[in-house]
Amino acid sequence: MRRLIRPTLTTKTVKALGRVTNRVVAAQNPKDQAEKSWDNKPKVAFSEVRMELENMASGRSRCMYCEDSFGTDIDHFWPKADYPERAFLWENYLLACSYCNSNLKRKLFPVDAAGSPLLINPTEDDPELYLRLLPSTGEYISLGAKGDESIKVFGLNDTASARNLPDGRKHALICLLALLKDYDRVFAIDADKAEEIRLAAKGFPFSAVLSWLVTTAKLPVGSVILGADIVSLIQTHQVEGWL
Ligand SMILES: [Zn+2]
Repeated sequence: MRRLIRPTLTTKTVKALGRVTNRVVAAQNPKDQAEKSWDNKPKVAFSEVRMELENMASGRSRCMYCEDSFGTDIDHFWPKADYPERAFLWENYLLACSYCNSNLKRKLFPVDAAGSPLLINPTEDDPELYLRLLPSTGEYISLGAKGDESIKVFGLNDTASARNLPDGRKHALICLLALLKDYDRVFAIDADKAEEIRLAAKGFPFSAVLSWLVTTAKLPVGSVILGADIVSLIQTHQVEGWL
């Protein structure tokens, strides 16, 4: 998981969502009204919502939780069954794959004693504060309760299932390092080829791995971890801007 920046919707769509929220909040049974309104959501507004979610997701519109599969579902971060008043808030929407949304998260939404979410919201939290990538295995080390719960709910360290996300991250690191070296090699001699390689790296699944490379390159020990050549080319080519 990596930090994602949420854009602003058009005024027309914000107003359309606001009208539905007002209907839900005013209903005798907000939960039922949220379900009904979700089944009949305003089409134009939601085509914009989906487009913006796909644009803000990493890579080629990857799931914001696992970063592996295509994001097919609009996920209510605060589940609409328990928080119907948030069912039509733009800030409550994330793009998820159907596996993360329907098989894993479902209505699970752990909160702390104060009622604050214990799942990482990559549009509000910096996931790197809660999850540290272990490059040798591709696993995440949890840095607290939010990391623990997110790893548990989304199976982020599950190596037993076929999707094996740690393996995916480990392989992403191998591929991204090769792409970065190739980019550096052709940069001065073939601008078109360099751009193709940059787009391949930018669109690669497990975008948190590219983010980890950028963050690690800035550390005083970055060259010990990555090698001085990798740190140098990440800085020279301003790879942070690829994210
Ligand atoms: Zn997913």
